[in-house]
Amino acid sequence: MIEDLVMDKFGRRRYWAIQRHPCAPEAVSIYNNGCNLECVYCWNSIRNDPKRISLYGRLLYPEEVADKANELLRKWRLSIVRVSGGEAILGFNSAHHLAKVIESTKCWKFVVETNGVELGRNPILFNLFSHLRDKIVFRINIKGSDYDNFERNTLRPGHWLDYVFKAIESAKKMRFKIICACMEEVVDVDKIEKRLIQLGVDTSKKFDKKGRIKYGHFEYEFEVEHIKIKYPWTEEKLRKVWGRAGDLKCI
Ligand code: SF4
Repeated sequence: MIEDLVMDKFGRRRYWAIQRHPCAPEAVSIYNNGCNLECVYCWNSIRNDPKRISLYGRLLYPEEVADKANELLRKWRLSIVRVSGGEAILGFNSAHHLAKVIESTKCWKFVVETNGVELGRNPILFNLFSHLRDKIVFRINIKGSDYDNFERNTLRPGHWLDYVFKAIESAKKMRFKIICACMEEVVDVDKIEKRLIQLGVDTSKKFDKKGRIKYGHFEYEFEVEHIKIKYPWTEEKLRKVWGRAGDLKCI
């Protein structure tokens, strides 16, 4: 299981950076390793590769992660933290670890970037975050618009897409703040939007991110973003799966 590769028996998780990154200067970014998907456009795929995970970053306790994030929040006078990189929630242990990080981080909003698969497979995990409801924003990245499309984009079984929508449904029911995001170039946005409407997601104010990521637009529940071809390995994989890459927007 991928979670076992990025966590140890002391509850530490592997991270490769905690910094204020130019792609999201409004936030402190916490970057982890390891993911349960293998998206063809993943910019972090090298650090998520199970054979290479231990080469990048180091294992940290939740308090160590929060201390570093708090130091940067103070230094840059910021109020938002985001966790990104690999997948933040890979099972109970990583979810429990993350809840502890969020508890100890002194910020206004903590954005959890997630593909939603484990949260939908096991929605009880949301309970670990219920006391942090006012602070958390779950940004759920929808990787496919149907089974075939999901499988093609993530190299995982197509029916896992149902877990993603289950996560969205559960988060709504539990009154968590969510943002549903998808990549315009590799999914059918209209198809996803229809499904989100059925789940009660407000898609009337769609946020189309043309440009750099801007954190702080929490009034939206639906975001359309664009593939960033920043690395040669992303381009190579995209070409292999989609037969194209050069005509996709480079940001
Ligand atoms: S879910 Fe995110 S981190 Fe995981 S493979 Fe896809 S793009 Fe990469």
